[in-house]
Parts: sequence; structure tokens; C-alpha cells
Amino acid sequence: MSSRPALLKPSMPSSPMPTMDSHRGDGAGCRLESSASGMRKHILILGGTMEARECGELLARRSELDVTLSLAGRTASPAAQPVPVRRGGFGGVDGLVKYLRDHEIDALIDATHPFASTMSAHAWSAAVQTHTPIIALRRAAWRATAGDRWTEVLDAKQALIALGSEPRNVFLALGRQEIAQFALAQQHRYLIRSVDAVDPPIEVPHARYILARGPFEEEQERKLLIGHAIDVIVAKNSGGAAAYGKLIAARTLGIPVILFRRPPELPVPGVATAGEAVAWLDHVLAAPTDRGV
Ligand code: NAP
Repeated sequence: MSSRPALLKPSMPSSPMPTMDSHRGDGAGCRLESSASGMRKHILILGGTMEARECGELLARRSELDVTLSLAGRTASPAAQPVPVRRGGFGGVDGLVKYLRDHEIDALIDATHPFASTMSAHAWSAAVQTHTPIIALRRAAWRATAGDRWTEVLDAKQALIALGSEPRNVFLALGRQEIAQFALAQQHRYLIRSVDAVDPPIEVPHARYILARGPFEEEQERKLLIGHAIDVIVAKNSGGAAAYGKLIAARTLGIPVILFRRPPELPVPGVATAGEAVAWLDHVLAAPTDRGV
């Protein structure tokens, strides 16, 4: 009997929060069947986020596991990772299916950014095809609180409309793909912060660039917003602590925020923290498996 098919039915989400006594949240105390029988298990983490790195940190301590963290390869000098890294796309769903089979991946942790919806959809589809257990490690979305002046939008097109026709000092806290679309609104002055240089630069008369890597604290963000006389922020509802500082600073300064809504979620079982993802993994790997797929 295999535990895998049951884990893969959207209508039957696995129990992402196992309750077995041997499971510790930090993942350090559990010994899997694989270690007892000498068989190593191979785990693939789809990364590009702090949660993926945290997951790698927890799993790096586990001598009975081979863990690979996958990065899209967009950043020229990515942050160091605690486990071996592979970089670059897989070549669509078929490429990922091949990778999962060739590398005999026993479990897949989709810890990509909540807005990386293409990769997540591919992961889900490839996991179903290969009967690979999958969990989505997704930080919760931010929720507006008293004092927040948020306008929620679907995409850059709606954000441009929300910005309006009057010139404004805009802090564009977005990725390179979305930023390009703001060239349609030439009247604004833009402040753009990114890990790597935005190349080509956005085709507008007024744009300033800052190279920096998060996390960004509230005080640091407050100084940035005041220093650049920002009067509106455009950002994604990424969730998590690393990018939240700008929203707290905006709240205290009364600055409006145009916030991209989360893309629709897939019917993949999900957890919110790396510790929970590791607990799920223990649960899955402790069950008998069927490699004949
Ligand atoms: P996406 O649109 O969902 O994915 C586009 C393609 O990039 C995928 O089809 C896949 O190529 C490749 N890819 C994406 N993530 C990958 C990974 N972890 N490992 C290997 N290939 C990957 O993704 P995106 O929004 O451009 O984000 C790219 C990466 O940046 C993700 O890893 C994400 O976690 C990270 N990130 C994204 C955001 C954001 O706002 N979107 C913010 C912070 C970090 P193939 O089809 O060839 O496999």
C-alpha cells in the first residue's frame, strides 16, 4: 500500500500537522524508517524565499536526508543556502517530472514566493503525475489593520489606474517584470529597490534606483519613505516579516499603499512555517512508500 495517492487528491488534503509524539517542530528528533533501513531519502525544496532557507536549515541537520534547494536563477549573487543548491528552470512541467523521477525525489516542498504561481502550478502538476508527496510552505497574507490606507489591486494595470493622473512620488516595491509596466505612467517619479540592477531601466523621465537585499526593518523603511518624500507605495501582499516594515512605516506616516492581491491558491495542502513543513515531511516519510511510479 502506498501513502502517496491519498496525499495527492486535492479533495483529501494530507494531515499537514502530524500529531505523532516522535515529531518535534524543529525536525531534529525524529528518526525515519529510511535511516533505520539505511535508505536515504531525497527532498526537493523549491526556493527563492526566506522560508525555503529556514526549511533548508532545519533539514541540513538531518544526516539521513539528501536535500536539494532549487532556485530559479534570477539573482546574480543569491544568498548562501544551508543545503546543496541547483539553479535554473526545470523546463516546464515535463522537465520537473523528469527531474523528480531522475533524482528519485521522495517529497517536494514548494516554498516559492506566494506570487510565483507558475512554478507552484508546475510543482503541483508534476507531483500528481509522479505521485510525489507535496506541501506548500506559504506565509499568511498581510491583513489591513487600523490606520492602514490600502487599495487592493489585481495587477499592474489596476495599480496604474489607482495611482491616478496627478504626478506622485511612488515607491515601487515590485519585481522587475511588473516594474516595466509603469513606463505607461510617465508623470510619476519612481523609487525602485531591487537586489540586482534593473536592466534595462524603466523608461520614464524620473526614476531612482536602490540596490538592497531584505529584510528591511520599520525604522529603516520610515527613513527611506521620508528621505525620498514618498507619497504612495506599490507592493505585493507577500506576507511575512521581511517586507512588512514598509507597511508599518506607511501606516505610521499615513502613506497610502496600493497592494497586489495574492494570486488564487492551488488545492495543495499548505503549512505556514518551516517547522510545520518538516513535521509534515516526517509524517510522510515515516509512511510506507511505493517507488514503482
Ligand atoms: P514563476 O513566474 O512562478 O515561475 C516562472 C518560471 O521560473 C517557472 O516556470 C520555472 O521555470 C522557473 N522557476 C521559478 N521558481 C523556480 C525555482 N525555485 N526553481 C527552479 N525554477 C524556478 O516565478 P517568479 O514569480 O518569476 O519567481 C521566480 C523565483 O523568485 C521563485 O523561485 C520565487 O520563489 C522567487 N521570488 C519571487 C517573487 C515574486 O514576487 N514573484 C518574490 C521573491 C522571490 P521552468 O518552467 O523552466 O521550470
